[in-house]
Amino acid sequence: DVRHGPILYLEDVTVSFDGFKAINALNLTIDDGELRCIIGPNGAGKTTMMDIITGKTRPDSGQVWFGSRHDLLTMNEPEIASLGIGRKFQKPTVFEALTVFENLELAMAADKRILPTLTARINGEIRDRIDEILEIIGLKPLHARPAGILSHGQKQWLEIGMLLMQRPRLLLVDEPVAGMTEQEMERTAELLTGLAGKQSVVVVEHDMGFVRSIARKVTVLHQGSVLAEGSMDQVSSDPRVIEVYLGA
Ligand code: ADP
Repeated sequence: DVRHGPILYLEDVTVSFDGFKAINALNLTIDDGELRCIIGPNGAGKTTMMDIITGKTRPDSGQVWFGSRHDLLTMNEPEIASLGIGRKFQKPTVFEALTVFENLELAMAADKRILPTLTARINGEIRDRIDEILEIIGLKPLHARPAGILSHGQKQWLEIGMLLMQRPRLLLVDEPVAGMTEQEMERTAELLTGLAGKQSVVVVEHDMGFVRSIARKVTVLHQGSVLAEGSMDQVSSDPRVIEVYLGA
């Protein structure tokens, strides 16, 4: 039977660096298929929170669950990734000398040093998946071009496509529109909203216009815990949020 409810669950999570609580009694629930934006001033703990979810940083206390069955605090980074948690860092890291298609192919390869086409014909299933993803990320016309010729925005989309090859259940995306043109931002909003539903997406972003354009629900982090949560209109009219953003 189908299991509803949260895909990701953090309860009372705290982590200190040299006595400073970067994350302080953080509670966060992400529902299955949800698109959530995380905002907050510099130093609010956004990066540390992502590091905790992916297993890069261990909290001092609290609980982190993926679905209702996987206690992420008992797992290491590769184990967490293999559950279907994909993370996109701010800077794109595509292989510039390889074609767009080959980049996607490589994302499927067990051994990242060897392209499947160099060893054997890639199977139809992988080719279909690549075609599907080229469509989603809008790079079909460029599939045979080296990734090095892509614009900054196109490289970001390719990298999201590379993560999608693994069929993640949860995508963590760090500042996707930094450095993008208006037009690229609009396309990125379409891409991310299109992905939600099929998988859960958590976006950390500074650009409020972009957040407003995509978000159903926004979580505001401040000093390592949740200051406010709700629609962009709700959180942006919350006096505590206004104080944090304007009062510094
Ligand atoms: P954000 O991503 O919201 O800007 P971070 O999670 O990067 O915030 O940082 C939260 C706080 O924790 C900051 O004050 C930062 O200086 C501190 N911090 C983060 N990582 C470390 C670390 N490895 N060692 C010491 N302090 C850290």
